[in-house]
Amino acid sequence: MADVQRSVATELDRIAPVIDELGRRFAEAGHELALVGGPVRDAMLGRHHNDLDLTTSARPDETERLLKGWAEAIWDMGRAFGTIGCRKGEWLVEVTTYRSESYDPTSRKPDVDFGDSLAGDLGRRDFTVNAMAVRVPGREVEDPYGGIVDLAHRVLRTPGRPEDSFSDDPLRMMRAARFVAQLGFTVDPSVVEAMRSMAGRIEIISAERVRDELVKLVCAPYPRLGLTLLVDTGLAELVLPELPALALERDEHHRHKDVYQHTLTVLEQAMDLESRLPAGGPDFVARFAALMHDVGKPRTRRFLDDGTVTFHHHDVVGAKMTRKRMKALRFSNDDIDAVSRLVELHLRFHGYGSGEWTDSAVRRYVRDAGDQLERLHILTRADSTTRNRRKAERLQRTYDDLEERIARLAEQEELDAIRPDIDGNQIMEILGVGPGREVGEAYRFLLELRIDRGPLTPAEAETALREWWAAR
Ligand code: ATP
Ligand code: MG
Repeated sequence: MADVQRSVATELDRIAPVIDELGRRFAEAGHELALVGGPVRDAMLGRHHNDLDLTTSARPDETERLLKGWAEAIWDMGRAFGTIGCRKGEWLVEVTTYRSESYDPTSRKPDVDFGDSLAGDLGRRDFTVNAMAVRVPGREVEDPYGGIVDLAHRVLRTPGRPEDSFSDDPLRMMRAARFVAQLGFTVDPSVVEAMRSMAGRIEIISAERVRDELVKLVCAPYPRLGLTLLVDTGLAELVLPELPALALERDEHHRHKDVYQHTLTVLEQAMDLESRLPAGGPDFVARFAALMHDVGKPRTRRFLDDGTVTFHHHDVVGAKMTRKRMKALRFSNDDIDAVSRLVELHLRFHGYGSGEWTDSAVRRYVRDAGDQLERLHILTRADSTTRNRRKAERLQRTYDDLEERIARLAEQEELDAIRPDIDGNQIMEILGVGPGREVGEAYRFLLELRIDRGPLTPAEAETALREWWAAR
């Protein structure tokens, strides 16, 4: 507890120049202002960030007036919900009017009733560790629900009965899993129980809001914890059913490993490789591809007469399923294309054997991966969870070999920009045709040739083109 007090004092000193000044401004106008939620929780955990959430007795118009002349930029974050945003130097500040919300259980959005007290505002927050405030400029800590104690025990509890809280806003169930993944906390058994019994209520929440929590969860330091909670409470069955479906994959003879556990391990191994990416981690696309890479297995599983199991085409089937799920969750087309392409290609390397690919097969691998090549390297390497050390090392060495070949080929011929050796205009000139279908066909022919044989001189390309044209 002393640790908690020390970290919060240190953090408050750091942000004092901003919040004390703003606190005095509001106080002079007869209003209360308090730092609340995430920044208070994170200060107590010794984590610093420059996004400051504040809550106030002032109504939004008044808030805006008080921020004017102080902040360098002001914007409307959702005035109807009471939030005005602003920036001052390196600080991003959001000020929200006290709320005392009453919900219509059938509606998706809370009806906002502005409230009059800080205590009332804290009572409608999701978890006790998020229901703490520090008044400014005085710095009195308000912790009506024992958030400090829960923080010390690293546990998520709701301020009131969890059933009431989740009934008011079912998204809070997703938020529980997200905070577990972000903070590494456990969840109070009463909260788990409420999540289990009320999981079905998540259906009234928009796909976009569910997606946003899922993204935060997946990008957090402990996604396994959050995902396990979603699966154990039945929420995953509703928001990402492909994941719990993997747990059924252990057949009665235990002949192949549990694909669900394998998947979580692949995800963690992919996280360990994120530093390879230019932007580093956390990388949602790489992580989500790891999570989805085997989702085609349940549907493609076949038991052969000799007792072995096969999953033919689970890569292609899995890519389709991934696309469908991500569409339902309203992901962007770019994210959908990237993740499903990785799922589709995750097995390709296994045809590499111990290095038998021709140069043309290596070029095809690079071309098909496109701008996802680095992530494909990550996914393929992460997708080895064998306990047999020698086997694991052999796989990694073989992949090293493939990467070296890609690098060598790339150097020789700037592989990442594979283009035929002559362009469309030259094709028309050589063949004496105008724009049309034939030019496209000729271009594709030259592209295939380029992949099979590597770069050609213009003369070689022209000869090949003429031969192809004549034989057509
Ligand atoms: P982050 O670091 O991700 O921003 P945060 O705790 O600030 O974490 P936000 O989603 O920004 O999370 O929400 C800010 C605060 O508002 C939370 O700490 C919590 O007190 C409250 N809050 C947000 N969403 C809800 C909700 N659906 N139900 C109840 N309280 C909520
Ligand atoms: Mg926040």
